[in-house]
Amino acid sequence: MSMRLYDTARRAVVPFEPPPTVRMYVCGITPYDSTHLGHAATYLTYDLLIRRLEELGHEVHYVRNVTDVDDSILPKARELGVPYLELAEAEMARFHSDMDALEMRAPDAEPRATESIDLIIELVGQLLESGNAYLTHGTAYFDVSSFPRYGELSHYSDEQMVRLARARGGNPDDPHRRQPLDFVLWQPSLPDEPAWRAPFGVGRPGWHIECSAMAMHEHGPTIDLHGGGTDLIFPHHESEIAQSESLTNKPFVTHWLHSAMVNYEGEKMSKSLGNLVFVDELLKHADPRAIRLALMRHHYRHGFEWYQTDLEEGTALLHRLLAAAALPTGPDPRAYAQRVRDAIDDDLDTPRALDALDDLASAILSGGDDPDAHTMLCELGRLLGVNLERPISTGPA
Ligand SMILES: [Zn+2]
Repeated sequence: MSMRLYDTARRAVVPFEPPPTVRMYVCGITPYDSTHLGHAATYLTYDLLIRRLEELGHEVHYVRNVTDVDDSILPKARELGVPYLELAEAEMARFHSDMDALEMRAPDAEPRATESIDLIIELVGQLLESGNAYLTHGTAYFDVSSFPRYGELSHYSDEQMVRLARARGGNPDDPHRRQPLDFVLWQPSLPDEPAWRAPFGVGRPGWHIECSAMAMHEHGPTIDLHGGGTDLIFPHHESEIAQSESLTNKPFVTHWLHSAMVNYEGEKMSKSLGNLVFVDELLKHADPRAIRLALMRHHYRHGFEWYQTDLEEGTALLHRLLAAAALPTGPDPRAYAQRVRDAIDDDLDTPRALDALDDLASAILSGGDDPDAHTMLCELGRLLGVNLERPISTGPA
């Protein structure tokens, strides 16, 4: 069976047939706060996909950017009274340590927005020249009327997009815009904000153009698979498409894969509600493999509520798997292995994959004399990023 994945743009599960080397771009973090479970769930989705693609013999060129200058890091740095790049360094170090603990495959390239400014300036200049953008009051805006397919990724109506732009800080009511959905490519900096000199004004980039520049710099005009959380579909990814395709006249992304949001005990997990579950807090008391298993018990496409019981169930499953992995033999594992891989290939159906893995563990614990059972259980564990050859740990290593 070949792999099938949901595609946001096509709104269907479709065959995913990437080339031998897969160009993958996933929007990274804005490093101004700790990694929470929502980040972990998102990056886990792409980690699993990469593991399976690599098992199938593909090479994956995985790019995950760092948004180290945008509208959220600068106010936070101001509030803390620290230089924004110092805040970025500290939070990136924490993010990397959380990702390493969760055994997430490191990206092959991790470009930073502040290191891509020259290219961003060049691209904004090209969009102004081609008439896809305009300059007014020191700000360069992308003109969405120049890109009739704006909205085709999210499938939102113009009214829905305006409403969401308002809710997500897009400022559609700004009187300088020709249309409410036009978005900022370049803007003047406030006096205490970083600023770069561009032919069209001293200032800093808008968020969306940063990702277009970094993605095209690393991958060229077309990406095989672009990911991020579902909250990025609009306006971020919709705008990435408009800018990039206006610049290159080529499809920007072949396949869009978005990971759903995680809520916490009935409420949206958000900074403003103060209910973020931080990965480093969980890691103080939990084995990182239990966190991975707990997250994988939910399908990436279905938003879910995180409860303390999730972690308890992940831990219980880890104990069962480790108990089985301690036995040298078991039944013929081939049918179980097929079930695990079929489930992953069927739109990353991790709950079903874990059921099959759990069934294999139960069967091993019931007996059998085939040594392949042990080998296969560990191999399937590795496919899911769960090392079953290491004893349990319940605190920081
Ligand atoms: Zn992005």
